[in-house]
Amino acid sequence: MRKSIAILGAGIMGSSLALFLARKGYDVKLIDMAEQPFTGASRWNEGKIHLGYLYSGDRTLKTAKKLIPGGLAFTNLVSELMGREVTSDLVTSSADHYLIHKKSVVKGAAFREYAQKISLLTQEHPLSDQYFISLDKNIPKQLSRTYIDNHFNPAIVSDGFEIPERSVQTNTIADYFIDALDHTPTIEKIMHHEVLAVHPSDKIGWSVSLSHSGKVVKHNGFDLVINALWQNRIKIDQTANMDLPASWTHRYRVSLFGQTSQIIQEIPSAVIAVGPFGDIKNYDGKHWYLSWYDAGLISQSHDINPPKISLLDHEQLKYITTETINQLGAAIPAVSSLVTKFETLKVKGGWVYAVGQGDLGTADSQLHKRDRVGYLARQGYISVDTGKYSLAPWMAKKLVEQITQ
Ligand SMILES: Cc1cc2nc3c(=O)[nH]c(=O)nc-3n(C[C@H](O)[C@H](O)[C@H](O)COP(=O)(O)OP(=O)(O)OC[C@H]3O[C@@H](n4cnc5c(N)ncnc54)[C@H](O)[C@@H]3O)c2cc1C
Repeated sequence: MRKSIAILGAGIMGSSLALFLARKGYDVKLIDMAEQPFTGASRWNEGKIHLGYLYSGDRTLKTAKKLIPGGLAFTNLVSELMGREVTSDLVTSSADHYLIHKKSVVKGAAFREYAQKISLLTQEHPLSDQYFISLDKNIPKQLSRTYIDNHFNPAIVSDGFEIPERSVQTNTIADYFIDALDHTPTIEKIMHHEVLAVHPSDKIGWSVSLSHSGKVVKHNGFDLVINALWQNRIKIDQTANMDLPASWTHRYRVSLFGQTSQIIQEIPSAVIAVGPFGDIKNYDGKHWYLSWYDAGLISQSHDINPPKISLLDHEQLKYITTETINQLGAAIPAVSSLVTKFETLKVKGGWVYAVGQGDLGTADSQLHKRDRVGYLARQGYISVDTGKYSLAPWMAKKLVEQITQ
């Protein structure tokens, strides 16, 4: 008989698992409380396909080593999952500028040393040739003082580097994933159902309690339940008697997603590092991502139950937009001129779950280390901490290899 699997959560992790497992012959029920898959963090994020450069606050290199295979394999795995290529218009076309803020927790010289180590790690990795660009030919480069003075604010930016990292347009990728799910008959999508609890049972397999239109319904008889609920994952783990981490942080973060009518090539993709600063991503000259950490941090909590997020009102949206553009514009003056060119501008986001706590502005914050991600398994129940968007397809592939071996 075909095995029956419940996958809780239809973000990039749950959807990748569902597609891989369905293609291996499993019957999959993909359960989510939203009206469709990919409504949260997996649709509304920057789409940086991490090679580890952002985590220079982790001098052990453990975070980078965790992220590298996922980043390298991302485009091939996502193409396989979606059944179509990640075309170049969905990918930023030039190097990411890492602009080291004067208040960075990692100074310029230390970042340069770190970047050289990451470059070597990525070049020597067996999956090295799978990234969007050649990592042998594209190595980190320090920006000259003149370049920094001409393009950025030297009162804020102390050093700058061209880093061979790319980002993808997550919104379009989300639509392609939904299409692939819809064309896979052995995946049953159960949307608008909130997961309340998971119960082990000897005779009829595992069961899942769901809330739908004010009523509690139970789905029984699963051979396996995989929890990929992200912000509600550990809460549901508790109902299945799984061990919880010693500490964690739930943050609800929003950013700006904009579109310009004209093509603008002269503003580069950049990240102001290392700490609670901001980013701009220029995907194809017309699609943009802008964030400023403090402006977009709507909620932060260490409770097992993340707080409810209400719809942002007009004043909040205005503040987030203005503050993001002002703060980014202070460091990268060209951003200020971009504001008049947007045809559409949306404020969107999602939850970020991370093991550990701390303030990103301090070097000892546990949030600079993101290596403790992955899955915990007990007979018939698996809980997956995705860690990063860019890691999800790789982690899903590895997990499915274990399940099906
Ligand atoms: C602003 C921002 C920028 C980011 N930038 C990057 C980046 O550049 N690169 C990168 O790699 N990562 C980035 N991330 C992190 C990345 O988005 C997440 O790691 C990733 O999307 C998590 O995927 P997921 O499938 O685990 O979770 P999600 O996409 O959140 O999916 C979880 C699903 O579970 C559902 N759900 C939750 N609770 C319940 C419940 N009780 N019952 C039923 N359904 C439920 C939700 O509706 C959701 O659909 C960013 C995140 C944010 C918010």
